[in-house]
Amino acid sequence: MKNSEQRIKIALQKSGRLTDHSLDLLERCGLKFTQSKDQLFCYGENMPIDLLLVRDDDIPGLVSDDVCDLGIVGLNVVNEKRLALEADGIDALFDPVFELDFGHCRLAIAAPDDTPFADAASLSGKRIATSYSATLGDYLQRNQITAEIVYFSGAVEIAPRLGRADFICDLVSTGSTLAANQLREVQTIAESEAVIIQTRAELTDAKQQWVNKLLQRLDGVLQVRESKYIMLHAPRAALAEIKRLLPGSEAPTVIPLDGDNGRVAVHAVCRENVFWETLENLKAAGASAMLVLPVEKMLA
Ligand code: ATP
Ligand code: ZN
Repeated sequence: MKNSEQRIKIALQKSGRLTDHSLDLLERCGLKFTQSKDQLFCYGENMPIDLLLVRDDDIPGLVSDDVCDLGIVGLNVVNEKRLALEADGIDALFDPVFELDFGHCRLAIAAPDDTPFADAASLSGKRIATSYSATLGDYLQRNQITAEIVYFSGAVEIAPRLGRADFICDLVSTGSTLAANQLREVQTIAESEAVIIQTRAELTDAKQQWVNKLLQRLDGVLQVRESKYIMLHAPRAALAEIKRLLPGSEAPTVIPLDGDNGRVAVHAVCRENVFWETLENLKAAGASAMLVLPVEKMLA
């Protein structure tokens, strides 16, 4: 199917861990949507950008097949799809554009509490249950280990108790699900977070312009998340030290003060959070009248 329409389609997870964050991110880029009755489609009211709400596993395929231009999905799902297609001799026709700093987790091997594990070689000749067959297969191959991959589409953590596997390979964030199933994490295979992917299909100029605009706004939203605007007064002589103490700021603005006394006002955007400790260090360096403000929007 070819996506020849003039409106941009973005595939998002319909309902799951990524849904709220994905929608929030797009809303913060200024997009407004009306949801269809069946809740599978969101029509963009103020931009030619619509959303398709689907299972996360379907997102890379929809973008690869050019049914959607963009997709927001976990890197774990993206890599699994890419490796599975490659195994069939097919090139995945999508590319990750950038990471979105949510949905952090890792794909890890876990072992029952009483099963010994020293290193990857301990998996040799064993059965490993997973929903990530392609990624696990690639890991085993890279480590020159022969093991049996037992495919589970969900509830992988019960496989050892059912006697279906010796180890599991699954997504972990806090590890509490593993602990509840008497499993322990023994080896990380891959780190993951949500990413935005774009189709390799060529877009019309008009569509590409909207995609560029959206990606630029997304980048801005991600950058301001931690950013703070800081204002303070400082002795001119201490400027070098004050600049050194300001976290992640490039070129602060230095403004003369009325009546001078050798003091100036310094305004800077800090690309990291400003903690009390930083303010105390700035004070020790001679700064006063310090104000820290959140940054709402930023366009580089
Ligand atoms: P769907 O119905 O869309 O197939 P799902 O059950 O596959 O849903 P979720 O459990 O909602 O998916 O997870 C979606 C994504 O969230 C994962 O692919 C992963 O990128 C991310 N994630 C973050 N932390 C975790 C975690 N602890 N367990 C599972 N996924 C996590
Ligand atoms: Zn899924």
